[in-house]
Amino acid sequence: MSGVNSIRTAFLDYFAANGHRIVPSSPLVPLNDPTLMFTNAGMVQFKNVFTGLEKRDYARAVTSQKCVRAGGKHNDLDNVGYTARHHTFFEMLGNFSFGDYFKDEAITLAWKLITGEFGLDPERLLVTVYHTDDQAFDLWRKISGLHEDRIIRIPTHDNFWQMGDTGPCGPCSEIFYDHGDHIWGGPPGSPEEDGDRFIEIWNLVFMQFEQTTADQRVDLPRPSIDTGMGLERIAAVLQGVHDNYDIDLFKALISASEQLTHTRAEGDRQASHRVIADHLRATSFLIADGVLPSNEGRGYVLRRIMRRAMRHAHLLGAEEPLMHRLVPALIGEMGEAYPELGRARALITETLRLEETRFRKTLERGLGLLNEATDQLGDGDELAGETAFKLYDTYGFPLDLTQDALRQRGISVDTDGFNAAMERQKAEARANWSGSGDAADEAVWFGLRDELGATEFLGYETEKAEGII
Ligand code: ATP
Ligand code: MG
Ligand code: MG
Ligand code: MG
Repeated sequence: MSGVNSIRTAFLDYFAANGHRIVPSSPLVPLNDPTLMFTNAGMVQFKNVFTGLEKRDYARAVTSQKCVRAGGKHNDLDNVGYTARHHTFFEMLGNFSFGDYFKDEAITLAWKLITGEFGLDPERLLVTVYHTDDQAFDLWRKISGLHEDRIIRIPTHDNFWQMGDTGPCGPCSEIFYDHGDHIWGGPPGSPEEDGDRFIEIWNLVFMQFEQTTADQRVDLPRPSIDTGMGLERIAAVLQGVHDNYDIDLFKALISASEQLTHTRAEGDRQASHRVIADHLRATSFLIADGVLPSNEGRGYVLRRIMRRAMRHAHLLGAEEPLMHRLVPALIGEMGEAYPELGRARALITETLRLEETRFRKTLERGLGLLNEATDQLGDGDELAGETAFKLYDTYGFPLDLTQDALRQRGISVDTDGFNAAMERQKAEARANWSGSGDAADEAVWFGLRDELGATEFLGYETEKAEGII
């Protein structure tokens, strides 16, 4: 039962047997929601159902939702390769009640699944509740029989969920798994909570209020439930490993990149293999859902993820473009659950190959410049913003790629200096702007650039400057 594909099915089947409709994942590009960069949680496709704007012919649903957290409010890009539990792309398993069952049944269903069906040892489990949510505290005591010490009251926003400044909101309750005292980390709410020992596996959101204005909150007449469990995190627990990157799915992807690069995912190389495997998933799924690399908005986030992976491929000594050659391994692992991957195979492969072919032309020279500029720098030092900007402007290095490249040496980047250099260039471009002579066009153009911000928008195409396209 423990492969990722069978865990996903077990979750969906369990909730289907408990009266939930199995609803397919929605695309990574949210439909009709320009405010959200990518789908980042299971509830996104049900937003209007929760607010009552939209009606469905079911009151309970279960999904395995494709999610990307690599931009906007939830950005886990910098964690990838360095924590045991974060991906840019992951699958969120979730059950939902639209004004149907509430806390009691949500906790009962969750507890029965993890300790019954999945057989987790209750001794390894901890839960958190929002500090004022006595009801949830009492229900956990009654339903799970966990000792009071293992039901932790948390006063921060981590345990209070809000859809936005107004709209549905409510306390949440999270389930944590203790991977053992040989791993560094502390229980939720402790100073060491960011370690990898106690890992959050499941978040149960109790939508019981509506925030009507900044300081007014009323009870929802029919409270709802929204939950999210990371498939890769529960898979790690069920497979007896302590790191998401050691589950069957990631082992297969990493072994493919080991073979193609003739290197092992050990020592310094481990992070590179993990980043490549993670970013392969994010980029392939984004392309399959219609995002293409570009210099703005969603396409630029995709480009950043792609180029970041490509630097790691280069670090592993890959002499030829690598990413597109890993696509068969990904389709082998995930193509059955997500047929869109197979349908987009040619597009994914070609997009990756072309981007890597182009980027490799400037990557080497950019890295040369970076090495020269950091020759004399060490742990705690800072790279001049001007240099980071040159890497961006001339060599197509997104800022986060430069930061990632310097991370292992403890060198940071002067981002204020980077932004200042960007601003200067924008001002010069404005001064030299001859444009169409249409003031309205100019306003739109510069407005867009300002809105997208420095890291979202590559003002001058590197490839053009380099004569590649
Ligand atoms: P964390 O505190 O570990 O960053 P979170 O509180 O941001 O997680 P939620 O927003 O509550 O996560 O999402 C619900 C569930 O989705 C989490 O309990 C976790 O199992 C999973 N999850 C969240 N972010 C990631 C990620 N970047 N990679 C893999 N799984 C994730
Ligand atoms: Mg998080
Ligand atoms: Mg959390
Ligand atoms: Mg959470």
